[in-house]
Amino acid sequence: MNRAVRPAVLNSHSNPFNLMTALFHSTPIFDRSRPTHWDSGGGAYRDSSKVMNLMMPTSSARKGHFRAFRVSHTRAESNPDATSSSSSSVAFQSTGKTRKINFCQLCGGPTKHEIPDGEEKMRAICTLCGRIAYENPKMVVGCLIEHDNNILLCKRKIHPSYGLWTLPAGYMEIGESAAEGAIRETWEEANAEVEVMSPFAQLDIPLIGQTYVIFLAKLKRPHFSPGPESSDCRLFSLDDIPFDSLAFSSMLVTLNLYIEDRKVGRPKFHYGTINKRPGTSPSDIRAYTLDHYLES
Ligand SMILES: [Zn+2]
Repeated sequence: MNRAVRPAVLNSHSNPFNLMTALFHSTPIFDRSRPTHWDSGGGAYRDSSKVMNLMMPTSSARKGHFRAFRVSHTRAESNPDATSSSSSSVAFQSTGKTRKINFCQLCGGPTKHEIPDGEEKMRAICTLCGRIAYENPKMVVGCLIEHDNNILLCKRKIHPSYGLWTLPAGYMEIGESAAEGAIRETWEEANAEVEVMSPFAQLDIPLIGQTYVIFLAKLKRPHFSPGPESSDCRLFSLDDIPFDSLAFSSMLVTLNLYIEDRKVGRPKFHYGTINKRPGTSPSDIRAYTLDHYLES
């Protein structure tokens, strides 16, 4: 749902879809015995200029079975995931590390901002009940759905990024696993029942306190249609992915990594940190660096 792109601090909704979560609880989430259907030749996929430039140093460090390298975009664009928190009562400060909370979420009392004893960071502390407002990143979970060598994308019918394409994804709920959340979000946004096959990527966005966890998934049935917050859902071949109208940097990174994997013919697991490049436009989804990159 759109919650994937709202600032985490605005996510105060209740979950009306617990039923779906319950429905999927009895469903095996991972099928580790699945045969790979990927074309190991990889020749079917274009060498697109839109594909992220993966700069792998010859001295790539290996940590265990992970290969580490840094990926940077050379174009001056930015991460829209890092926009829009100004309307919240919780202001997002420019450092990306501190949020100003003026009122206690427990009792509504006014807060003071101090470094608590024994800690190092400034916190909002309630002047009435003494509660310290600790804040932690939000998990955004979603599915990269493969079907007949195509992938499923949803066109957003909501702001921000209205009219732009995204993988079905949204905030993970209390009481569900990441995979369950990804399945639920896919149901909500694309009316599609999916089976999660494997984890594909974890992408941290420290500036806005979000972590994306994207799973590879497949349709249980070849049925999908736009959910309430999508104007369209469509299968795209890799050559037709609308890279010029993607909603978020996280989706751009995910899809680029996916295309790279498809070229090689083997899905990997990817980890990285998306950092907005200073001084770039918030609306430019390409103005990021992918740092601390690891792959399986
Ligand atoms: Zn309080």
